Amino acid sequence: MNARVLPSRPYNFSAGPATIPAEVLSQAAAEMLDWKGSGMSVMEMSHRGKEFDSIHNQALADLRELLAIPSNFRILFMQGGGLAENAIVPLNLSARKPDQVMDYVLTGSWSQKSAKEARRYGEARIAASGEADGFTRIPDPASWQLSQNASYVHLCSNETIHGVECHQLPDLKALGSDAPLVIDFSSHAASRPVDWSRVGLAYGGAQKNLGLAGLTLVVVREDLLGRALPVCPSAFNYQTVAENNSMFNTPPTYAIYIAGLVFQWLKKQGGIETIEARNIAKAQLLYDFIDGSQLYLNKVAKGNRSRMNVPFFLRDEARNAAFLEGAKAAGLLQLKGHKSVGGMRASIYNAMPLAGVQALVDYMRDFEKTQA
Ligand code: PMP
Repeated sequence: MNARVLPSRPYNFSAGPATIPAEVLSQAAAEMLDWKGSGMSVMEMSHRGKEFDSIHNQALADLRELLAIPSNFRILFMQGGGLAENAIVPLNLSARKPDQVMDYVLTGSWSQKSAKEARRYGEARIAASGEADGFTRIPDPASWQLSQNASYVHLCSNETIHGVECHQLPDLKALGSDAPLVIDFSSHAASRPVDWSRVGLAYGGAQKNLGLAGLTLVVVREDLLGRALPVCPSAFNYQTVAENNSMFNTPPTYAIYIAGLVFQWLKKQGGIETIEARNIAKAQLLYDFIDGSQLYLNKVAKGNRSRMNVPFFLRDEARNAAFLEGAKAAGLLQLKGHKSVGGMRASIYNAMPLAGVQALVDYMRDFEKTQA
């Protein structure tokens, strides 16, 4: 990364597309017109040329190292985002036997959408749901009603809107299921290590923790390839994509390049364990402040609180507009909560420094005092 002085920018708490490390943006800017003496912008390169090949292979190697992805898993760079994966997963995995079903654990809006889409391709059963609790807690895995004939069990391991996170992935074998676990890790990918012994497939859009919208990361265990329904589009068939090293069609080259810069930035920070420790400290600072205040409220059960997305409410909703206006003036951007739940939401992904969370807490404290 270039060691030049970066202009200071406001702190951006968007849920995604989200803040990107300034060092990454700066390097991309420096390389925009001429990538490493090639005479080309990365946007202008053939995806089959040696220049892009080196960008692609470096990104794959860095991600494998960072997340300790075992050699029997393939890393695919696809397109369509998390919502397309809601169809692509059942198109690829639901066809093992004619009587098979798919198990879905509902932990919030995103997993509800996943189950709804899967019903277009087969029988999607609800193994557990946190809806009765307003999605403020993840149902205890011991209570999940898992089917014996499931092709897979789907779990959104971090719900971006409701702010609930599964801090330890379930061991499906211990729960009596031999189905692979599929996780939607869109909003906490690369924020903590993944226990790959418990996962068959993980997918996520890149626009939160991995860079730009337009790239979808899929990490899939090799034995799950080759099970697609005949109607599965070739460009979305995991086996076809894997056999062509994500080059069956033109991949989102610039987004892969930016993800590669993000992976290098992560390595420079000290890797995933270091970033996880930083994420824990950031989340604790914000939740502790919210819990100790009279004005702010987070409704999620303590053991299920997301380290990435922190929804909170002002007990006096009439102050919402003033809160957001003052935040913007203080250089704290995009704090408005998702329209389906209201209130506020601070997304504090990897690229948000502790100083940004401290600035938010300082502002929240001042706002509470001035309104008392
Ligand atoms: N899953 C989760 C957990 C998400 O946060 C999002 C987007 N916010 C999606 C799926 C949908 O992703 P996309 O918009 O990239 O299709």
